[in-house]
Amino acid sequence: MAANGTGGWPDAIVVGGGVVGCSIAYRLAARGKRVLLLERRGLASGASGRNGGMTGAGSAMHSAAGRAVYALTAANLSLLPGLAEELDADFALRLPGTLDVATTEAQWAHLAESAAEQRAAGLDVRLLDRDEARAAMPALSPAILGASFAGGRGHLWPFALVHGFADAARRLGVEIRAGVEVERLSRVGDRVTGVVAGGQRIEADDVVLATNAYTPHLLPELPPGAIVPARGQILVTSAVPPLLPHPFGTNFDKEYGRQTPDGKILCGGFRRLDDDEGLGHEEERVTPAVLAGIAGCLAGLFPVLRDRVRVVRAWAGIMGFTADGLPLIGAFPGTPGLTVAAGFNGGGFSWAAIVGQVVADLVSGRDPGFDLAPFDPGRFSAGRTAWTNPFTAGERARVVGAPALAGPS
Ligand SMILES: Cc1cc2nc3c(=O)[nH]c(=O)nc-3n(C[C@H](O)[C@H](O)[C@H](O)COP(=O)(O)OP(=O)(O)OC[C@H]3O[C@@H](n4cnc5c(N)ncnc54)[C@H](O)[C@@H]3O)c2cc1C
Repeated sequence: MAANGTGGWPDAIVVGGGVVGCSIAYRLAARGKRVLLLERRGLASGASGRNGGMTGAGSAMHSAAGRAVYALTAANLSLLPGLAEELDADFALRLPGTLDVATTEAQWAHLAESAAEQRAAGLDVRLLDRDEARAAMPALSPAILGASFAGGRGHLWPFALVHGFADAARRLGVEIRAGVEVERLSRVGDRVTGVVAGGQRIEADDVVLATNAYTPHLLPELPPGAIVPARGQILVTSAVPPLLPHPFGTNFDKEYGRQTPDGKILCGGFRRLDDDEGLGHEEERVTPAVLAGIAGCLAGLFPVLRDRVRVVRAWAGIMGFTADGLPLIGAFPGTPGLTVAAGFNGGGFSWAAIVGQVVADLVSGRDPGFDLAPFDPGRFSAGRTAWTNPFTAGERARVVGAPALAGPS
């Protein structure tokens, strides 16, 4: 095959045309690599085109790896504003700060605790009482207890960012082939020497797996449970005049939403009402119980929406949840030629831009300048995979079943 019309083999093959794969392909090309990107469906057809579009820095979980998470996600957030010009793509970035709304005492106590921790770490996070929260977002129900405000975070149009990376990558010579499924890695001894796709062997010095939830299909070395598919669902309403100046989260960040620049309100969550909490499912199917939960959450938090909006769209997408809630970023141990960037849980848009740079550095033999130890793709060695994903553990430990505020009657 002739990647990039050069007549030669690609230097690197990126598998997966989501935000992570497209970002990596772009940065590799910017470092002079000849790159071939293979995507089995269309660009942004996976989680990257089916998500909520929230972006920020930091993490709701409190782990020893928190500082490493913060370093990367803060770097990601600081890259985003310049990307529109760099990629020549308008992906509707808005960074007005986000509100995490408490509707129960337990949620309020959790917000107070995490706001104190984040402030101590120097972050722009502050607690707002009910009146202050409603002053910031008057559509909020008077029944809420308060909110925490995180400055600098916001939302974007995910589909446009993925295509922004992809178009910029093409301009740098990246060959993108959609509708091509990689069947397996090709190997000589331990070394990965390329991929097999459509029955054809394609060789490259480096292969990067940006296949998120689907990574275990191509990487049998990953112990079961290291990356698990997790179905999330989103509901979208008809457009209304500007009502929600800030994206919001609630209920330990299990529910979240925002108003898009064209007025629609988009909300997701309630995975706990899905079959098996959505875990282990690759079928992109919406389920009535989850959508009813989401609708109830919206109507409860924002009573002004009742009788005012219609649901115009709903969809499901598959996330890659990891056993410890952290992504896998780096060389896969014992397998020269293979790099992994997968398992971005519920937050890939807080990672992808910087991960493109990090992986391009790694593949080019440069020091990316970040502590990547917590993200070592080899950390789930056989027999040691314990399921402690904080997103799901939180889901299980804090089941509330129904929105704390009254839903639609
Ligand atoms: C409902 C929902 C809401 C979310 N909300 C947010 C949010 O508000 N903010 C946020 O930051 N994140 C959110 N996320 C998570 C976010 O979407 C993901 O973390 C991010 O998109 C991961 O990007 P990716 O490129 O790693 O994976 P994906 O976008 O899943 O891309 C992987 C690609 O690999 C391709 N692929 C897989 N196997 C093969 C193969 N064998 N050969 C070729 N191609 C292959 C797939 O087709 C897919 O296109 C949400 C996700 C969902 C589902």
